[in-house]
Amino acid sequence: MMVLTRKMIEIRSILNTVGQGGALTLPSIVVIGSQSSGKSSVLEAIVGHEFLPKGSNMVTRRPIELTLVNTPDAKAEYGEFPALGLGKITDFSQIQRTLTDLNLAVPAEQCVTDDPIQLSIYSPNVPDLSMIDLPGYIQVSGKDQPPELKQKIADLCDKYIQAPNVILAISAADVDLANSTALRSSRRVDPRGERTIGVITKMDLVDPTRGLEVLTDRKYPLRLGYVGVVCKIPQTAGLFSRAGQNVTSAIVKNENAYFSSHPLEFGPQNEVSVGTTTLRHKLMHVLEQTMAASLAGTRDAIIQELEEATYEFKVQYNDRPLSAESYLAESLDSFKHSFKEFSEQFGRPQVRALLKEVLDQKVMDLLAKRYWNKPIEDLSKAPFEADPLADLPKADPGSLFWQRKLDASTSELTKLGVGRLATTVVASELQNHVNKLIEASTFASHPYAQRAIVDASSSILNDRFYSTSDQVENCIKPFKFEIEVDNNEWSKGRQNIGQVLKSELKACDAAHKRLEDGIGYRKLKDVMGFIDRVRKGDVVLEGDGTGGAGGFSAALLQKGREAVFLRDRSELIKMRLLAVKSKQCANVKNKYYCPEVFLDVVADKLTSTAVLFLNVELLSEFYYNFPRELDIRLGRHLEAAEIERFAREDPRVRRHLDVIRRKEMLELVLEKIESLRQLEGRSKMGASHG
Ligand code: GDP
Repeated sequence: MMVLTRKMIEIRSILNTVGQGGALTLPSIVVIGSQSSGKSSVLEAIVGHEFLPKGSNMVTRRPIELTLVNTPDAKAEYGEFPALGLGKITDFSQIQRTLTDLNLAVPAEQCVTDDPIQLSIYSPNVPDLSMIDLPGYIQVSGKDQPPELKQKIADLCDKYIQAPNVILAISAADVDLANSTALRSSRRVDPRGERTIGVITKMDLVDPTRGLEVLTDRKYPLRLGYVGVVCKIPQTAGLFSRAGQNVTSAIVKNENAYFSSHPLEFGPQNEVSVGTTTLRHKLMHVLEQTMAASLAGTRDAIIQELEEATYEFKVQYNDRPLSAESYLAESLDSFKHSFKEFSEQFGRPQVRALLKEVLDQKVMDLLAKRYWNKPIEDLSKAPFEADPLADLPKADPGSLFWQRKLDASTSELTKLGVGRLATTVVASELQNHVNKLIEASTFASHPYAQRAIVDASSSILNDRFYSTSDQVENCIKPFKFEIEVDNNEWSKGRQNIGQVLKSELKACDAAHKRLEDGIGYRKLKDVMGFIDRVRKGDVVLEGDGTGGAGGFSAALLQKGREAVFLRDRSELIKMRLLAVKSKQCANVKNKYYCPEVFLDVVADKLTSTAVLFLNVELLSEFYYNFPRELDIRLGRHLEAAEIERFAREDPRVRRHLDVIRRKEMLELVLEKIESLRQLEGRSKMGASHG
C-alpha cells in the first residue's frame, strides 16, 4: 500500500512546482502548535534528527514543506532543498543552519510569509510522508517582535489548516487542553473533528493519572484520536545526535520505558494511543487515506487545468513549440543573419563615401579659415553681379605667399590625424549599426543580451582601434611630403567640390530661411540692416550690444549676426562656385587660384588610401570576428539557468514558456495519476481474488 503514498507524494511535489495550489494539489499534514508545545520535537522524532531551527526568539517565519521519502535500500540519510540546488546535504546541522538562514532572510517587518521552504529528507528510517511545519502560535509578542506578529502567524496557520489537509494539532500535557491554541484553531475549521489528529506531548511531565485524563478528554472528540508522546531526546542520545546518529530508536526506547512503567494508565485496557511509533503509523495511514480520497477530485481539476493550458497554447501560441534554448538559438541566428545582410551592403564604397564626407567637411572648414575669412567684410559691400574675383586678393602663382598658403592648408589636411579620425568614424558607424540591428531584433527586449552584444562589438573594435589607426596613418604618410595630381584627378575634384559647395550653399540658405521663419522677414531684414550699418561704421554701437542696441534686444541682435554671417557666407560660396567653374580652374596648373579643387583632390587621395586599410584592418576583421564573439557570449557558453533567465526577460516569451511547462507538468502528473489508478485497481482485484 505504501507505494501509493509515495507516488501520491511525488505527484504532490510536481503539482507544487506548477504552483497555484487550490484544488490543484493533494492534501498534506499540517503541523500546528503553540511555541514550546514540543512541535519541533515531534517532527524531529519522526525524522530521527535534530534539523529544525531553534532559539528563544521565534525563528520559523516561513512554512516548511517537508517531504519524507523512505529509501529502504539506502544507508545514507540526507536532505535536499529542491529550489536551492544545493545538492544532497548529509549533515543535518547544516540543514538546520540553512533553514535558519532562509527564515532570517524574511525581513523583520514582514514577520512571516506564506512562501514555503521546500525540504525533502531521504532516509531508510523515515516513512513516506508529506508534512508542513508552520510557525508556532505565540501568546504575547516578545520585546523585539512586532505586535502584529501574533495575528500574522494565526492568519498564516488558518490558510494552511483548510480542508482537505490533515491537521496535526500539538498540545503539551502540562498545559490545560482548554487553553491549547492548536486545538482551538483546529476546532474552528474542523468542528466535527474529522481530519484532526491530536498530539499530546510531554506526557512525562504530568502525573500518569492526569496524563490518562488528558488523553481521554472528550471535550473535543477527534475521529482520528489523540496520541500521547514523550519526544524528549534522551541525554545520551543527544550526544549521538550531535555525532549525526539517528535518534529515533533512542527516543522510542525512552518513551516505551515511560509508558510501560505505567501499565495501569497506558495499558491496552484503556484503549489510549501512545508513543511516537503509533503516531508515525497513524500519520502514514491517515495521509494515504486522505490523499487517495482527494485523488479523483485532483485528477478532475488537473484535466480541466490541462484543457485550459492546451487551449491557451493553441490559441495564443498556435501550438508552436518553444524552449529557452531554441528561443535563444533562433534569436541569435536571426541576429547574425541581419548582421550578415548589413555587412554585405556596408563595404568599401560605403566606407569611402562616409569618410569622404567627413573630409569634405574638414576641407570646407580649412577653406573658411585660410581663404574665405579675409574678404568677407569686403564682400558684403561688393555687388554680386560684379566680377566675383575682383575683391579676392590677387592670386599670383609665382608668389611664394600664395604657394605657402596652399602648402600650409594641404599640410594641415594631411596632418589632422586622418588615421584616428577615419578609424573613429568607421568604428562608431559600425557600433551604431549594431545598435540599430539590436533595436530591430528580438534582443531589443533583452537587456542582458543587449549588453553582451554591445560588449562583443566594442571589444573587437577597441582591440583593432590602435593598430588600424596606426596603419592608416603610416600609409598616408607620403602625402605629407608630396602630392602629385594629374588632370584626371583634377577634373574629378573640380566636379566634386562643386557639389560640396552647392550643398554647403543649400545648407546656408536653409539655415537663413529658418531664422527668417522664426523671426519674421521684416524684423530680420531690419536687424540685419542695422548690423550692416554698424559694420560700415554708419552707426556706432554703444557698448558691445549685449544689452541690446538700436531698439533690438540682445537675442535679436545675436540672431541678426547669424543671419548676416549666413548671407555673407552664401554670397561667398556662390562666388567661389563661379570661380571653380571658371576657365581659370579648369587646369591643375592653376592650383593656386583654386585651393578648393586642390584640397578636394588631396582629401580624395587620403580617403582612398585610408579606405584600403580600414577595409582590411577593421571591416573584414569585424565582420569575421563579431559573429564568433556573439557565439561565445550568447551561444554555447551560457549555462541552462542563464539561458532560462535570458528567455524569461521577455514577458511574451516567459508566458509562452510557462504555458508549455505547465502543460507538460500537468500531462506528466495526469499520466502518473492514471498509472496509480491502474495500480490501485490491480491491487483491489488481487485482494478480491486472493
Ligand atoms: P516547539 O517550540 O513547539 O517546537 O517546542 P520544542 O520541540 O522546541 O520543545 C520545547 C521544549 O520542550 C524543549 O526544551 C524540549 O526539549 C521540551 N520537550 C519537548 N517534548 C518533550 C517531552 O515529551 N518531554 C519533555 N520532558 N520535554 C519535552
